[in-house]
Amino acid sequence: MQEKGTISIHTENIFPIIKKFLYSDNEIFLRELVSNAVDATQKIKRLATLGQYNGELGDITVEVAFDKDKKTITISDRGLGMTAEEIKKYINQIAFSGAAEFVEKFKDAKDANEIIGKFGLGFYSAFMVADKVEINTLSYQEGAAPARWTCDGSTEFEISAGDRKDRGTEITLFINADSEEFLDKWKLQGILDKYCKFLPVPIKFGTKTDSVEDGEEADGKKKWKSVEKDNIINTTSPIWTKSPNDLKDEDYLKFYKELYPMGEDPLFWIHLNVDYPFNLTGVLYFPKVKNDFEMQKNKIKLFSRQVFITDEVKDIVPEFLMLLHGVIDSPDIPLNVSRSFLQADSNVKKINSYITKKVADKLGELYKKDRKVYEEKWNDIGLFVKYGMISEDKFAEKGKDFALLKNTKGEYFTLPEYKEKVKAIQTDKNDQTVYLYATDVNKQDGFIQSANKKDYDVLVMDSPIDSHFIQHLEMKEEKTQLKRVDADVAEKLIEKEDSYANLLTEDQSKKVKEIFEKAISNATYSVDVAGLSPEEMPVTVTMDEFMRRMKDMAQMGGGMSFYGSLPDNYKVAINGNHPVIDKLLKTEDEEAQTKLAKQAFDLALLSQGMLTGKDLTAFVKRSVELI
Ligand code: ADP
Ligand code: MG
Repeated sequence: MQEKGTISIHTENIFPIIKKFLYSDNEIFLRELVSNAVDATQKIKRLATLGQYNGELGDITVEVAFDKDKKTITISDRGLGMTAEEIKKYINQIAFSGAAEFVEKFKDAKDANEIIGKFGLGFYSAFMVADKVEINTLSYQEGAAPARWTCDGSTEFEISAGDRKDRGTEITLFINADSEEFLDKWKLQGILDKYCKFLPVPIKFGTKTDSVEDGEEADGKKKWKSVEKDNIINTTSPIWTKSPNDLKDEDYLKFYKELYPMGEDPLFWIHLNVDYPFNLTGVLYFPKVKNDFEMQKNKIKLFSRQVFITDEVKDIVPEFLMLLHGVIDSPDIPLNVSRSFLQADSNVKKINSYITKKVADKLGELYKKDRKVYEEKWNDIGLFVKYGMISEDKFAEKGKDFALLKNTKGEYFTLPEYKEKVKAIQTDKNDQTVYLYATDVNKQDGFIQSANKKDYDVLVMDSPIDSHFIQHLEMKEEKTQLKRVDADVAEKLIEKEDSYANLLTEDQSKKVKEIFEKAISNATYSVDVAGLSPEEMPVTVTMDEFMRRMKDMAQMGGGMSFYGSLPDNYKVAINGNHPVIDKLLKTEDEEAQTKLAKQAFDLALLSQGMLTGKDLTAFVKRSVELI
């Protein structure tokens, strides 16, 4: 048997294109050839189960080997093999309709995956690294003759009788001059680790040395000896393919370590398992979130039938869950098409909402099971939950049951619990419930204490996501408003009918205002005299909630540059009912009066950490004089 022919594609030479445009990703040739070998092995196993193959299965290990001198890489399997006819059918007739269109369309393709999968070019990816490829194969079918196919990278191929004695296929790549880097043990091991680590059939790559027990020494100590063992590079049944019932916590933790050897133990995990209406398995881990969370992003690995595809899962996993770690395996995700298509794909959408639901269910379950433990982990979980609630309405709906608010006393409340807690005392005369929060409990301590004195509760909102979460709460919680605890004096944070009357006359108030304006002599502070509790500080410096938020947003690049360009603008509230103000009015000497006002004002700044530099030095000096 000897036959020559032309591979049926309609353009003269496809291989230069494959080589040229796929160069950056050329290591995937090994993924393609090894997964073909695995597919062929799975097929023969299935045929055996179905009773359509009655021979011995034998050792079905797939083997990858290389020969530096001959410059070859071989991938061999004991799968179902091919007859010469089958080679012609499956290998020669590349399954795509218009090669001309192909060439046109993918001239500028950057991503090899895009082309390889779309046109079923899996096998042909071999030509990215090889000048010549040879197939030696023997079909499992009774009486089949071994066949050999060679192709030198042109569209010419040759089929002849082969000499293979046992069932299966061996692919030999004659590596081209540009790709000799692949003729290296560590290089190949690295690629196998990346793509083939969890394939369902054992894959051997050379041998490794192992120590095994070898009886005992005279003193009873164990003896060890080195043995050469097959280097099996993969785990054939990774945990995501198993039933959760058969797995213990240790198994999940061990797998996590296998994926991220440097990682700290995760907080908890979710085992995904659906087969309808799409197929998806996987394990997602919640890591401890660190500050540099960009580093922790993009850690989910995407597999298709246990073959690693990518760790770019941006469109499959909801954005807010990008911080999760772990694996997702689905044959239903179209891997080889453009991003925009992916976003529109209905399976991807379903998968996306399935994952969202699963994560929400898991969080709800953890919360119900042991609230104490959940609260302890809230610092880490909170980021996911808040981000999820902000970005996904469906998640926000579920999140109501397990999102927590923490107050300055370290107590935790669900959203309904908190409303219940503060409603009676913190509802203003317009029927708005006002939640108070601190972004820096140390700096805002004075304000927190004043609020607490009025029996107001203060929440801690100190993570970067909280400014968004605050807006989310205001939008979702009925008749609710959030104010930073230093947005005003405690008296005015929540406006009630029964605020204190100002004991000063109008003239006195005017006089006090003038004294302070003169003492401060800075236009960024606007002075206001009001009747507050005598318990309050004589002077308080605040920044309006609205103004502060706008400025914060401008700073974060939220497009509010108008506010960003305004100077900081502070309100100075003078407590007309404080004895110091009375003393001030009674002070005859103008210089002494200014000094006293300045002192009271500086104290207010000091309590907020706003007094620095020369002003601080002057304040200390003045204080010494006064005592
Ligand atoms: P795909 O794997 O997507 O079908 P490939 O180009 O990778 O596309 O392979 C084309 C076909 O060649 C396979 O479907 C299979 O029929 C056949 N084939 C490739 N490699 C082997 C192998 N090692 N053993 C048996 N058949 C193979
Ligand atoms: Mg293939």
